[in-house]
Amino acid sequence: MIRVQVDRCGYCGACVSVCPVGAIELAETHLLISQACVDCGLCLAACPVGALQAEGYADSKRVPLRRRCDVVVVGAGPGGSVAAREAAKLGLSVLLLEKRQEIGSPVRCAEGIAHDMLVPFIEPDPRWISATVTKAQIAVIGSEKTVTRQAEGGKGYILERRVFDRVLAEEAAQAGAQVMVKTAATGLLLEDGVVRGVVARGPAGSMEIECAVVIGADGVESRVGSWAGLDTTLLLRDTMACAQYLLAGIEIDPACCYYYIGQDVAPGGYAWVFPKGEGKANVGLGVQADLATDSALNYLTRFIESQSHLAQGSPVTLVVGGVPVAPLPSRLVADGLMLVGDAARQVDPLTGGGIANAMIAGRLAAEVAAEAIAAGNVSAQALAVYEERWMAARGRKMARSYRLKERFGPDERTSSDFLRVFMVAVGGG
Ligand SMILES: Cc1cc2nc3c(=O)[nH]c(=O)nc-3n(C[C@H](O)[C@H](O)[C@H](O)COP(=O)(O)OP(=O)(O)OC[C@H]3O[C@@H](n4cnc5c(N)ncnc54)[C@H](O)[C@@H]3O)c2cc1C
Ligand code: SF4
Ligand code: SF4
Repeated sequence: MIRVQVDRCGYCGACVSVCPVGAIELAETHLLISQACVDCGLCLAACPVGALQAEGYADSKRVPLRRRCDVVVVGAGPGGSVAAREAAKLGLSVLLLEKRQEIGSPVRCAEGIAHDMLVPFIEPDPRWISATVTKAQIAVIGSEKTVTRQAEGGKGYILERRVFDRVLAEEAAQAGAQVMVKTAATGLLLEDGVVRGVVARGPAGSMEIECAVVIGADGVESRVGSWAGLDTTLLLRDTMACAQYLLAGIEIDPACCYYYIGQDVAPGGYAWVFPKGEGKANVGLGVQADLATDSALNYLTRFIESQSHLAQGSPVTLVVGGVPVAPLPSRLVADGLMLVGDAARQVDPLTGGGIANAMIAGRLAAEVAAEAIAAGNVSAQALAVYEERWMAARGRKMARSYRLKERFGPDERTSSDFLRVFMVAVGGG
């Protein structure tokens, strides 16, 4: 029998095409090999990355590679790439690890960001901007009430994150960081509880990377914090389960973001329609995980069917994901480690927006890492400056958003008070 090394497999399908007995099935990102395999070995030769092995092959003889640098950043989302770019600009040697084989893909985002929140990090570029928006409209479903709001001079963008995320990682590389794709952190190097580096696995095998500071930017699925003893577990009530289609063939105002609120539409959350240019839009919703009586995808299907202008469109991409809408964990730092972005639950609990916050946190973490390394002290006490700067920059605002989220229970989300609060939140990025 043949077995597949999932760390290496690039899901290209070459092995499927040469198998004479149809024993291999490529199910998107799972390669399944059935009992029908007759051990002919053809697939081994076809695989471009050596991901297939005959049963009994011992890979464990390989000695882990060893490396050393100042900072390892885990995760090349906006938070991780900005952290890596800024740390490299500050003269540190940086390794940026990304477990996916293509940075930015698959997208798990509605891709909206305010102009003012974007420009401190990167100049807007048509390569990764799908639409420029200047208006927002909020509708309450289940009543006659429709509230509209025109943004006053402010503007925002609907990004193309597949490109945006990659460009940020490219900028990190240009600044001097070394980027490694398809390379997952699998644990931390710990010495008496102090983080001394990262254990990772990639196409070249396993690696032990020693460093002064680890920045965990590993998104909603973060493990880095818990490996260091930080509690980042989310409660169901602080988690939004989201589903989104990119719908093509619809007619909407290409400069307007639409929001829909209603208990039946998206309990505890909202639905959105964000224009992506040329008759396309990200149409999605998030439901508070403990309130939903059905999957987010089923809520979305019903929502689209209920809106005739959306029902006429065709889905060309499906996005699913979880968004932390939680209070900040009690600690964002440990000895030799900081968390940023979704890994640190730094998302706006009212809107679910986290791109800008991740970039802000990434920059702050890079600056604090540089200062701590220069001072020869990377203890949790020294890195706590990062927590303080986060609170001053965004943390207090996020704490207020969480209090508002708690104050307006699901039944009160259609009140004019909540709509006022929500309009300000979505207008502010
Ligand atoms: C449906 C949906 C809609 C959203 N809409 C918006 C929106 O319109 N506007 C907005 O501002 N925010 C939105 N968000 C939130 C936004 O996507 C996130 O807040 C943002 O991506 C956070 O950036 P990040 O860098 O912290 O994490 P991510 O972008 O999630 O990046 C984390 C990276 O770490 C990698 N990684 C994870 N584990 C490992 C590991 N062990 N080793 C190596 N790499 C690892 C992942 O592969 C990933 O690339 C939305 C989220 C969802 C799910
Ligand atoms: S060894 Fe031969 S039969 Fe088995 S999966 Fe590979 S190509 Fe198919
Ligand atoms: S040929 Fe190799 S990389 Fe391609 S799908 Fe098969 S095992 Fe994966």
